Amino acid sequence: MADDYSKVLLDESEMPTQWYNVIPDLPEPPPPPLHPGTHEPIGPDDLAPLFPMALIMQEVSTDSYIDIPGEVLDIYRLWRPTPLLRARRLEKALDTPARIFLKYEGGSPAGSHKPNTAVPQAFYNSQEGVTRLTTETGAGQWGSALAFATAQYGIECEVWQVRASYDQKPYRKTMMEIWGATVHPSPSNLTEAGRAVLAADPDSPGSLGIAISEAVEQAAPREDTRYALGSVLNHVLLHQTIIGEEALLQLAKVDETPDLLVGCTGGGSNFGGLSFPFLREKLAGRMNPTIRCVEPASCPSLTRGEYRYDFGDTGQLTPLVKMHTLGHTFVPDPIHAGGLRYHGMSPLISHIYELGLIEAESIHQTECFAAGLQFARSEGIVPAPEPTHAIAATIREALRCRESGEEKVILTALCGHGHLDLASYEQYLAGELVDYDYPEEKIAAAMAQVPVLS
Ligand SMILES: *Cc1c(COP(=O)(O)O)cnc(C)c1O
Repeated sequence: MADDYSKVLLDESEMPTQWYNVIPDLPEPPPPPLHPGTHEPIGPDDLAPLFPMALIMQEVSTDSYIDIPGEVLDIYRLWRPTPLLRARRLEKALDTPARIFLKYEGGSPAGSHKPNTAVPQAFYNSQEGVTRLTTETGAGQWGSALAFATAQYGIECEVWQVRASYDQKPYRKTMMEIWGATVHPSPSNLTEAGRAVLAADPDSPGSLGIAISEAVEQAAPREDTRYALGSVLNHVLLHQTIIGEEALLQLAKVDETPDLLVGCTGGGSNFGGLSFPFLREKLAGRMNPTIRCVEPASCPSLTRGEYRYDFGDTGQLTPLVKMHTLGHTFVPDPIHAGGLRYHGMSPLISHIYELGLIEAESIHQTECFAAGLQFARSEGIVPAPEPTHAIAATIREALRCRESGEEKVILTALCGHGHLDLASYEQYLAGELVDYDYPEEKIAAAMAQVPVLS
């Protein structure tokens, strides 16, 4: 390939047909989820009221590769393989010798990487006769991805959207409704969990932890209903590995090996999806990239959260999972505009971080929006606020390369576009976004609620 390309494409026939499970390649397996009552490791049956058995078996799988069902591949082909972009104009603007690659997931129907897991989740649920799925959504990306996916299988979809984003991002709700989903602001008075929060604080802006409780409460008792989660869990990260598998093939086409991978982390799914296939290569000694997570300074679960067993939701309905956490009752301040607001981090990412195989940093939101603007003005695409964290970290690194003269190859995921996040950009352009420090007192109060295991 000539060296003046601006993107690297794959043919449909080159699309990977298996997901990669990193767990068997790790030096130690991650700690198991525990039953909230007995504190004993849970078994597949404990999860059966929430998820179809095929996904539960993927959650605990020790197989290195899992075949992607043909029907899922057919739907993936609506937008996959996705392009690998070379950010030459940004490199030039930064006057850096670094070479910057971005795997662009914004071309999917929902505009992010989320449909990569929404589609198989809807598929396996439909195979097992489920006719209704409930879920939560924060910024609205996951709710729209699941609404799109359930529409492919005629499954009813009911979404609890965090109140702050329900009010700030009305078009995400419209998008979900276009695909046939029903959307409730969370906390709602439709569930016990929601009513309890509203009783304590009628103006609660909501949180992902609260919305998860509502969606789980609505799914568990009904035989026709299951629950779907858009991040955090092993099977979600598994489905996202198609991102990294494609990127490996694309970099090989242009004879490049990454020195640094950076990805934004909310629950860890786009980061895990991009990085795990590269971690496999690193563990096998075939390449040696540094792998780095980037999270918001106002919701720093990995860099500042404790690594211990906690609930995945505010209402304590989920199993206890060992993860970096700010406490399951933590409600991030609505002033934080950029998504990535979950109180915990994927247990698998947390474990890999504890093993020292990846690193993490946190960045304030105004630096992220500034990076998003610089990116849009040089490369054209308006990034979602979440990947601006990865872009800001990429720019930091590219500027370090300008000083040192290092020709680093940097790879990141541009995991979504920001066309429905313009209200946040509007605030930034009006000078209304401020940096919000580590919310020490709020986190201390939330950490005091985390169960102490003997
Ligand atoms: C949901 C979302 C995220 C955060 O979730 P992860 O599981 O950490 O990837 C990041 N970026 C975009 C565009 C999203 O939609």
